[in-house]
Order: sequence, then C-alpha cells, then structure tokens
Amino acid sequence: MALADMRSPIESGCPDGFQYMHPVMRRNFGLWKYHEHPRPGVLLHVALNGDKVWTVKCGTQRILDTFTLRKLTEIGDKFADGYIHFTLRSNLEYMTDDESKVEPLIKALEDAGFIVGGTANSVAMIAHTQGWLHCDIPGTDASGVVKSMMDELIDEFKNCNMPNRVHITTSCCQINCGGQGDIAINVQHTKPPKINHDLVGNICERPTVVARCPVAAIRPAMVDGKPSLEVDEKKCICCGACFPPCPPMQINHPEHSKLAIWVGGNHSNARSKPTFQRLVAAGVPNNPPRWPEATAIVKQILAAYKEGAKDWERINDWIERIGWPKFFEVTELPFTKYHIDNWRGARNSLNASTHIRF
Ligand code: SF4
Ligand code: SF4
Repeated sequence: MALADMRSPIESGCPDGFQYMHPVMRRNFGLWKYHEHPRPGVLLHVALNGDKVWTVKCGTQRILDTFTLRKLTEIGDKFADGYIHFTLRSNLEYMTDDESKVEPLIKALEDAGFIVGGTANSVAMIAHTQGWLHCDIPGTDASGVVKSMMDELIDEFKNCNMPNRVHITTSCCQINCGGQGDIAINVQHTKPPKINHDLVGNICERPTVVARCPVAAIRPAMVDGKPSLEVDEKKCICCGACFPPCPPMQINHPEHSKLAIWVGGNHSNARSKPTFQRLVAAGVPNNPPRWPEATAIVKQILAAYKEGAKDWERINDWIERIGWPKFFEVTELPFTKYHIDNWRGARNSLNASTHIRF
C-alpha cells in the first residue's frame, strides 16, 4: 500500500544553466558588444557596459576520473572564481573577469599536464562516443582512438594554423551516436551478422529484430526445430542495427570490423549550406591500442587541407571548390569501388538532402 507521506516525484531534466554561469556572464546575458581572440585557447568578451570576461579553454579526455576532476575544479576555485563550463567537445572552459589571472591559470593547467587551445581556426578536441568503456555494442573503442589521434595532433589543438575550425568525430558502432564532422572516423562492418541459432529464440524478440533492419533483409525462420531468424546476405548492408536488440546476431569481428573515414560534414550554414559527410577511406584496419593507420590518413587529409584551402574555408567548402578528383589527388588517398554508392535502394529510401521529410 502506498505510504501516506510518500514524497512527490522529482522532475528531472536539464537544470537551469544560469545558476552555474559566471556572474559577469549572467549579468551581461544578451548584452555583449564584441569578442576577441587574444591567443590560442583564450577568448575575451566585452559587454556593452564595459564588463570584460576572459575564457580559457582546456582539453580533457572527456571520461574523467574523480582525481582529475578534483584537480581541474581546484584550479577553477583558485583562478576562475569557482566557475567551470564543459563544452560539447569535452573541453573545459574557465572564466575570469581579472586579466592578471589568465596567464597564471594557463600555467597551472599546463603544469598539471592539461593542454590549452581548441579555439578559432584550430583542430578542436575530437568528439567521441563511449566505446568499450560503457556501451554494449561497440565495434571499436572511441576514447582510445581519440587519445591516440590527439597525441599526434596536439600542436594543431594548441595553435591556430588551420584555414578554419576543424571538427573531428569518432563513432564506435555504425549506427548510433557518432555524429558527422569535418572528418569522421566510424566503424565499418564488412560481413553480415553471424547468427547463434541456439540463443535467438530465448533472447531476442524476433518481430522487433525484423523491424529493425533498414533493408528488410531479416526473416523469421525455424532452424533445427527452434524459432530463429535468417539474413538475406545479398540484401544486408552490414549496418549492425540488428545486433543491439539481438546479441546472438554477432557482427563485431576482430578482422572484418574495420574503420572508415568520412569528410566534409557540416551542420553550419554560416557561409555555405549544410552538407553531409562522404566516405573517403574504407577498410582501414581497426588496430588498437594506437590505430596508426587511421591516424596517418587523418593527418594526410589535414596536411592537404592546411596547404590548399583558402582562409576561412571549412573542409566541405574546400572540397566543393577543388572538386573530388582533386581531393583524392592532393590527399593521395586511393579512389576505390567502395567509394561508389551503388546500393540499389538508395534512390528511394536514403535521405539525400538536409530537408526534414515526414
Ligand atoms: S557509437 Fe554505438 S557503440 Fe559507441 S557509444 Fe554510441 S551506441 Fe555505443
Ligand atoms: S546488419 Fe543491418 S542490414 Fe544486415 S541484417 Fe542486420 S540490420 Fe539488416
């Protein structure tokens, strides 16, 4: 029986962000006059009433242990009036209205082993998903790929030498949280799922699994007298969507689950229209713990972009101007049959524009 004094439910959801904002930011919300970029990793915002606030951006590994978080917040207590702000790309921003604290703050962060940068025309921290840490379907790690790549791209994070901002993303399965970016490193399964028929009947809700397949390649079947599923391998596009609702449809494989690299995704419509990313390297070895092959390709693309793009061209704008044949020439990436989108259902069912359809 329900208790008479049962507490009312707590509505959870996004808390009011204003309570966490630095007082100068809160006071001047919507009242900013201009901003400057005094050095990589530092922004200065000036309000209409003359108030100034400096923001220092520091890269983090996103998955933070308690000790690291304490270290970072202690620095915030000492130099940034106790206010911190996490960005979408796992950076930590400290704000202060006292210019004399900016250099000591940067020194404290660097002395503690953190890097300051990621502003303006730099390579921002790679946005990544969870990977082997706490997701149940990854075909590779994501945090590990980020660590290995950022170790090699650290100078591009700390300096502003790119034609424009570069957003890199990683995704540890082929279907879920990986976003699109200027450069995206995504899992690419190359073989259809292998079905353990002994387990399907006990574990999987078969109609849900059938409904999950985007190309209708899964059918219910009886195998050795037990209810199971079968896959039409000619239709299967190896997306991996059936694995989460039905783990006996194993698709992850140490050899056949590869990485693919895509470029030119851009949500922004500031200077040109939004674009979808396109595949430029397929079948890249998924090679932990340092993923050297994928990192080498990313560095190749960045070097060609840095060399050839005009100021303020994003990667998609640069490719649009020079054309795809030239892109493959300057990046020295081989153009293979895997770059041709010849899936027979694409014309009818793939959403090939940024318009929302109902
Ligand atoms: S991208 Fe896929 S595997 Fe990685 S955390 Fe998201 S759902 Fe899990
Ligand atoms: S991997 Fe994708 S396309 Fe293939 S059977 Fe599973 S859901 Fe369908």
